[in-house]
Amino acid sequence: MNEAEKEYISPVGEGLYSANTGDWRTQKPEIDQETCSRCGTCLIYCPTSSVRRADGRFIINLSFCKGCGVCAAECPNGCIAMTREAKR
Ligand code: SF4
Ligand code: SF4
Repeated sequence: MNEAEKEYISPVGEGLYSANTGDWRTQKPEIDQETCSRCGTCLIYCPTSSVRRADGRFIINLSFCKGCGVCAAECPNGCIAMTREAKR
């Protein structure tokens, strides 16, 4: 495995996945950092472990996010918006 592939190893499939599974997504989540209360609900519910905490904020790894919308549905503050991906 080369260095570029290692960049895409999933946090839940370390050593198993080297594909950029985010390529299959039709929608992507965007967190409004201004209204986010940093509760961590999105991190708990994301089925692909694509949400991480970094520098006190919650961010989404779009290399693995499948655009399922669970995070947006579960966010208690409604601060995750799902937007349509541009055609690739
Ligand atoms: S859209 Fe789905 S896969 Fe992507 S971050 Fe939200 S819960 Fe996780
Ligand atoms: S669930 Fe919503 S409010 Fe909570 S950390 Fe995630 S984006 Fe922020």
